[in-house]
Amino acid sequence: MKKSIWRQCTSKRRYKDEHTANHYRKMFERERGKELDYYWCVYCEGYHLTSSKSFLEEKYLLVHEF
Ligand SMILES: [Zn+2]
Repeated sequence: MKKSIWRQCTSKRRYKDEHTANHYRKMFERERGKELDYYWCVYCEGYHLTSSKSFLEEKYLLVHEF
């Protein structure tokens, strides 16, 4: 379980702070025309973007299992 999250994490672009993540979120939203979210990642201690709300919920639950 942890391994699969890590793989997903490293294949994603990492943003060092909330401001940067938010900047790219807005840019990609304009570009792709769909809503995105960003979340704090405990594995690489950075921010990632996601378009999947269910992924966020899943992540939230997993983080709270630790
Ligand atoms: Zn990460």
